[in-house]
Amino acid sequence: MKAFEATRLFFNQAADQLDISEELREALLMPDREVQVQVTIRLDSGKLANFVGFRVQHDHSRGPMKGGLRYHTEVDLDETRALASLMTWKTAVVNLPYGGAKGGIGVDPNDLSRSEIERLTRAFVDQIHDIVGPDTDIPAPDMGTDHQVMSWFRNQWEKYHGFHPAVITGKPVEEYGAKGREEATGRGVGTLTNKLIRRLGMASEKTRVAIQGFGNVGSHAAKFLHEAQFPIVAVSDVTGTYYHQDGLNIPELLRHKIAHPKGLLEGFEHAEHLPLEALLKLDKLDVLIPAALGGVITTENAGSISAKVIIEAANGPVHPGADEMLHQKGVTILPDILANAGGVTVSYFEWVQNRQHYRWSLDRVRQELDHTMNQAFEDVWQMASQHNVSLRTAAYMIGIARVKRATELAGLA
Ligand code: GLU
Repeated sequence: MKAFEATRLFFNQAADQLDISEELREALLMPDREVQVQVTIRLDSGKLANFVGFRVQHDHSRGPMKGGLRYHTEVDLDETRALASLMTWKTAVVNLPYGGAKGGIGVDPNDLSRSEIERLTRAFVDQIHDIVGPDTDIPAPDMGTDHQVMSWFRNQWEKYHGFHPAVITGKPVEEYGAKGREEATGRGVGTLTNKLIRRLGMASEKTRVAIQGFGNVGSHAAKFLHEAQFPIVAVSDVTGTYYHQDGLNIPELLRHKIAHPKGLLEGFEHAEHLPLEALLKLDKLDVLIPAALGGVITTENAGSISAKVIIEAANGPVHPGADEMLHQKGVTILPDILANAGGVTVSYFEWVQNRQHYRWSLDRVRQELDHTMNQAFEDVWQMASQHNVSLRTAAYMIGIARVKRATELAGLA
């Protein structure tokens, strides 16, 4: 099943509870605009290389559209469309005054030099600069992009439109970025994991966690949970799974990652090194946190998951079929549109600061982030208990109801 079809299914499960007509469902689900562009650059070797770039603008009824830019080989129109719609429900669940969008380029950034990535980013901006802007559509980092890419993006966009750092978020802290933006998604994942396990009557010191992916999100979530006394027994990245039955030494893992030229865990010695696939099959896990690619938990491997709780730090990590199987097994899933909303929440804080020419302290950012995440969690929890539905359906119900209301108020439906 393709990614957009999966989000459609989750959407419909919630729409059924809300009793929304077929025609309105289609209007809410279909993207406003989809743009596909050619991105051509000259490589360091002197050869030309062609890539395909996308920006899907899903919905703007609640405000300017918001969502990341992904540089990854799997980026295509269907995936971008699915991720753009997730942004619409995500910004609505945490009640930010935004709609949803997503973009990206089908490329493996590891194959390119930094200057090639800079040229790629600038060439992409040349193609899409007139459809993004601080009041229309505001990009941000996602897989394969970072604060440096955001800085190049902004610089290129400002060549056309003049000074306006609020055109993009996730910028370097010293160049109009927000303190705490980089850690935000992982921190939000950590805060909500903590909250959820307490709500389920579990204690952090006895909750064995495994994290799939040790990029920006996975590593910050690991740091937060380690500080909150959770034993993190396994983490993985493209180089494999790293396991320790009593809990990994997370500060040491973080140091290893920083020292590695590509930020990988390769060569980490204070853990058992297992194959990549081993992470999902580990025995006696309490919490599993997929924090890498989408579509990793399927009907084929869902049966071997021992965790009682899954926290979707990645976007779309659980296929609908697997979602149903896990639900039957009594596994609690904290859905992506709530679990990983910390990133876009601090993006919003960055945008607000840019527009006010004002800087918040790290403490303020963290405080407001914790407040927003806690509020959204309580809303979703209450909705789930009231209607006796999963946390995913409850989160979609809240998101869809807010977007529907805005659409109605605007007079379209
Ligand atoms: N790419 C992140 C996400 O999927 C952040 C988006 C943003 O900050 O706009 O939520």
